Amino acid sequence: MKYLSTRNSNLDFSFFEILFQGLSKDGGLFLPHQWPSIDVNILKNKTYQEVALEVIHPYVFNEISKNDLKKIINESYKSFSHPKIAPVTTIDQNKYILELFYGPTFAFKDYALQFLGNLFTYALPKASKKLTVLGATSGDTGSAAIHAFRGKQDINVFILHPHNRVSEVQRRQMTTVQDENIFNIAIKGNFDDCQKIVKELFIDDDLQQKTSLTAINSINWARLIAQVVYYFWAFLQIDEKEINFIVPSGNFGNVFSANVAKNMGLPINQLHIATNQNDILHSSISKGLMKKNVVTQTYSPSMDIQVSSNFERQLFESSGRDSESINHIFKEFSKNNSYTFDKNIQNDLQSCYSTTAVSNDETINAIKEIKEKYHYLADPHTATGLHVLLEKEGNLPWVSLACAHPAKFGDVIEKATGEPPVLPKDLSKFFDKEEKMTILDNNKDILKSLILQNI
Ligand SMILES: *Cc1c(COP(=O)(O)O)cnc(C)c1O
Repeated sequence: MKYLSTRNSNLDFSFFEILFQGLSKDGGLFLPHQWPSIDVNILKNKTYQEVALEVIHPYVFNEISKNDLKKIINESYKSFSHPKIAPVTTIDQNKYILELFYGPTFAFKDYALQFLGNLFTYALPKASKKLTVLGATSGDTGSAAIHAFRGKQDINVFILHPHNRVSEVQRRQMTTVQDENIFNIAIKGNFDDCQKIVKELFIDDDLQQKTSLTAINSINWARLIAQVVYYFWAFLQIDEKEINFIVPSGNFGNVFSANVAKNMGLPINQLHIATNQNDILHSSISKGLMKKNVVTQTYSPSMDIQVSSNFERQLFESSGRDSESINHIFKEFSKNNSYTFDKNIQNDLQSCYSTTAVSNDETINAIKEIKEKYHYLADPHTATGLHVLLEKEGNLPWVSLACAHPAKFGDVIEKATGEPPVLPKDLSKFFDKEEKMTILDNNKDILKSLILQNI
């Protein structure tokens, strides 16, 4: 399996080459040259780990043996606290929730980052320099990455989060990790500011010469393939002919993984995206208008995003895999902060996805209604999807993704239901520990010197 970039379809990289690079030098994102297909019938009666092995192996074919990949996968999911890893719960007829919060940091990011951490350890002898993991987080990616990489030899980890804009549980999950290879940076800005600094440092040749910079945010292809697995897994648990998913989304990572599953042959009928008030995805897909607005803070902070980094992958697909037109679109977009897609792209987007932008009030009401009607407590990100699920009808199963454990967002839960969620024991332990973080101005040079001093 070889990989190209969305901005240069002539590239021909191996899996290990794109694993460490993260973002392509031309500014594009990596994708495989073709989609492998998989017969879902061969996945029946397999465990989560066995399904993962079959789904992931075609992407690393010739580079990681099936036996080695099996070990990496088993290691990655051994600390998950549910025997099914990602169980499906039924709340009503044809209404299901796929629960993705059984990893060490209680959000779906663990499913990909635990895998990535073990993949890096396996691949490290192939890297020429010490690795520096650099990433921006709106809350959950950072903690999942820190718990996946803590204590790993020859890997330093710098995680940026927007100062005072992540929940207390999210912050403590990151800042209470005392391992020497972990650096928590709070940037005085929003998540897009953090993401911009990361993108700029990735194309800084001086820094790249001194260390091997590696991305762990959802632009990293290895993360997306780990997420493809649980769409197959949900289908296998429900066992119907076709399936629909509702995916809360900001960065388009999780829902693009769903589309990859579809490209591989999973019989997905419809993908419905729930955004919050930061609705660039809703506008891009429903109106064909990709327009960057100011980020507003909502009850679902991990979706407070205006530039969805993975959307470029979908645009590449929707343009008929035309890297010329992707270059054009993003040149115009960075000049004008706005771009209107042509009809072909717009039609293709609408043939794959439907969207809803969910307001703060609707999010709160969904948490309340789902609790009263079904005795199910949902976190605010999950609730944007459940707002949509409540309205769905028809004969096909609708599966909405539960992205995080409700206890990670206690303030919002209390506002919606009148009482704070019960903290699971493994979450309350973060409140007894000392925190470690550095607060920096929104400036890439300050961060660059901090990285150089510490690697
Ligand atoms: C990351 C995250 C999201 C958004 O997912 P993307 O695939 O990056 O859009 C939603 N909810 C939670 C809890 C998250 O951590």
